[in-house]
Amino acid sequence: MTVIRQQDFIDSIEDALQFISYYHPLDYVKAVEKAYLKEQNPAAKDAMAQILINSRMSAEGHRPICQDTGIVTCFVKIGMAVQWDKHDMTVQQMVDEGTRRAYTNPDNPLRASIVADPAGARKNTKDNTPSVVHIDMVPGDKIEVMIAAKGGGSENKSKMVMLNPSDDIAEWVVKTLPTMGAGWCPPGMLGIGIGGTAEKAAVLAKESLMDPVDIQELMERGAETTEEKLRLDIFKKVNDLGIGAQGLGGLTTVVDIKIKSVPTHAASKPVAMIPNCAATRHAHFHLDGSGPAELKVPKLEDWPQVTWEIGGNVRRVNMDDVTPEEVQTWKAGDTVLLSGKMLTGRDAAHKRIQTMMDSGEGLPEGVDFTNRFIYYVGPVDAVGDEVVGPAGPTTATRMDKFTDLMLEKTGLLGMIGKAERGPATVESIAKHKAVYLMAVGGAAYLVSKAIKKSRVVAFEDLGMEAIYEFEVEDMPVTVAVDSTGNNVHATGPAIWKGKIAELEAAK
Ligand code: SF4
Repeated sequence: MTVIRQQDFIDSIEDALQFISYYHPLDYVKAVEKAYLKEQNPAAKDAMAQILINSRMSAEGHRPICQDTGIVTCFVKIGMAVQWDKHDMTVQQMVDEGTRRAYTNPDNPLRASIVADPAGARKNTKDNTPSVVHIDMVPGDKIEVMIAAKGGGSENKSKMVMLNPSDDIAEWVVKTLPTMGAGWCPPGMLGIGIGGTAEKAAVLAKESLMDPVDIQELMERGAETTEEKLRLDIFKKVNDLGIGAQGLGGLTTVVDIKIKSVPTHAASKPVAMIPNCAATRHAHFHLDGSGPAELKVPKLEDWPQVTWEIGGNVRRVNMDDVTPEEVQTWKAGDTVLLSGKMLTGRDAAHKRIQTMMDSGEGLPEGVDFTNRFIYYVGPVDAVGDEVVGPAGPTTATRMDKFTDLMLEKTGLLGMIGKAERGPATVESIAKHKAVYLMAVGGAAYLVSKAIKKSRVVAFEDLGMEAIYEFEVEDMPVTVAVDSTGNNVHATGPAIWKGKIAELEAAK
């Protein structure tokens, strides 16, 4: 019989969540480094350089890898012979207490992203609780915990299907992945759950993402089981799609495929697929009654020394005096270094702007988008002498439904976000001769260093979703949709799918 102290469990959860907010798992870092070294598309290589530099900076500065510090997802396996020293809290309550403490830690506050009443008021709970907890009773006298902070952008791209027993799982994955766009911030992993029932497949898919990246070892030793054969098959087929880092086109879309399966009904083949993003964050620990878990602190030398070079073809732009005519000379794929002032706004701010404009009230006082850019971001709170906490882009696709209104009615020149825009939005951008610029999702701490001043301009009550004015210096972005409607998220993957096929044929 092992007695586990509640306090040890709560402390371990708190420590693990702080730990994973700034330390990428090293297996993921090594896998991205490998992908970076072999990448041939300069834009994708550049994105991976930013992800790796950001990762090292976060490890060094103990600040979040990404502004989206995730929804806490925790698998707790409790030995049947374990006893707790106190019985006044459930395991869910203990995980929530650890989460609350981790997310409100004054040295490294993490962004609270959880909203209650999800179908209605969607009110922020302020401390990122409740977490999602899966509990299993297992043989033994220890507790095993696998905990992750799952980004919303990648979670939003989860897919589930009930296939026919004779259907091909790899075929479904390869058909489905291109429909998921780049909002899951590749390069990452796909977790695939097969069997059981619909909900069991989804839990298996999520749990599979807790395993380390090891596909290279599997390739070397060869596949033996059905799952292993499927992993290799899907890994190759997905990377052959040419989607690439951040959906810009390239050789690596995924650094691993994870699969877990359980028996299922003879009439069913449930399959769930959940992607993990550039902010892959998870930790694994055991409690045996001897005290809280101690996670092994990685060494900074374990991170690759990647540098980001500003190429000769980069445009430097001062947003304070840029003209619509100048913006129209930018071409899809160009790298631009932005300086000057921009406004921010994401889902809640756009919805409120739309409501105010529809009612004839107009824009809030002090907000003028004429000839300006809007950055889709919800930053982490600043600490110490920081101007702003990690402040990477959020998925632009969610703002598609507001974009035509913003371009039509506000005089906006362009938008900055991550991932692709929908066809109607690309059309609207071309119609208004605007642009959509893309920053690298998962490079939030690096981006925040380009922000020199920040102030709230409107909607302060929305917290991280308020409208801020940022003053930036040399913030790197890529022209993702230019003023004629050329769209790198359409052209990049198509070009690289063809190039990968050529490279394969030449082998
Ligand atoms: S890397 Fe992308 S998907 Fe992942 S948490 Fe950050 S913004 Fe979200």
